[in-house]
Amino acid sequence: MRAVMRLNPEDRSKMGGRIVAGGQDVTRMSRRRLNRFRGAEAAMIFQEPLLALDPVYTIGMQIVETIRVHERISRADAWARALDLFERVQIPSPERRLNAYPHELSGGMRQRAMIALALACWPQLLLADEPTTALDASVQIQVLLLLRQLQRDLGLSIIFVTHDIGAAVEVADRIAVMYAGRIVEEASARDLINTPRHPYTIGLLKSRTHDAMVKEHKLDTIPGAPPDLANLPEGCAFAPRCYLAQDACRRGVPDLQQLEGGRTVRCRRIDRTAPELRSAAAQ
Ligand code: SF4
Repeated sequence: MRAVMRLNPEDRSKMGGRIVAGGQDVTRMSRRRLNRFRGAEAAMIFQEPLLALDPVYTIGMQIVETIRVHERISRADAWARALDLFERVQIPSPERRLNAYPHELSGGMRQRAMIALALACWPQLLLADEPTTALDASVQIQVLLLLRQLQRDLGLSIIFVTHDIGAAVEVADRIAVMYAGRIVEEASARDLINTPRHPYTIGLLKSRTHDAMVKEHKLDTIPGAPPDLANLPEGCAFAPRCYLAQDACRRGVPDLQQLEGGRTVRCRRIDRTAPELRSAAAQ
């Protein structure tokens, strides 16, 4: 996500490939073009808004200044837009809350204010970095529903990063599952949930607390722990934890394979992960 916004320090980062947003390659943008891209075309919301918002300015002031950096607009018009944004993100008493400092709002309100700030210049792309992780479960659902509503109303594209596959299912049309820094499966949300094909995706879905509560069985877990990213295992990084691992899995990183329905999977044994074969393969 930081790479998409080119926020990684250039003298200490290696960049390869292309990042195409709105038909333009972000990796080739000039500094001036990049400044316009950030905020006006793509914006980011973070896990902990208290760290992302400036504590010494009111929220309203931060939104107004953000708008005025990118657009020639009067302070009064920028304030009117800030008010509109606060109404869109369903903050009660918006006028009063615009005049509040970040520490004066609750966690849920702060995340809504952060979303309003990100939308200040009507970007087409919103990068959401675990935006609900720091919130209570009931507030999490409200923020997820709000993001979905905004996505529909404003025609936004949202990239939503989460450790909670249940949250991904609530907001996503497509889901890409990552393990040890690589995409291991990508599919429409419905296909991924109904017929997961990568052993890691299968493990993630089986270890949802919701399933254990509904079906009243012991919570499944994935054995082992994620690898050290600076010292990845040979071949498939999931092999030490995978119930299907064979010697062949440890010879080189598996390629992403294209399956029917626009799905891609990075696994050498997908012939054993079709739903009808899965229980036999697990034995
Ligand atoms: S390549 Fe092998 S070890 Fe990796 S996920 Fe597939 S079956 Fe498991």
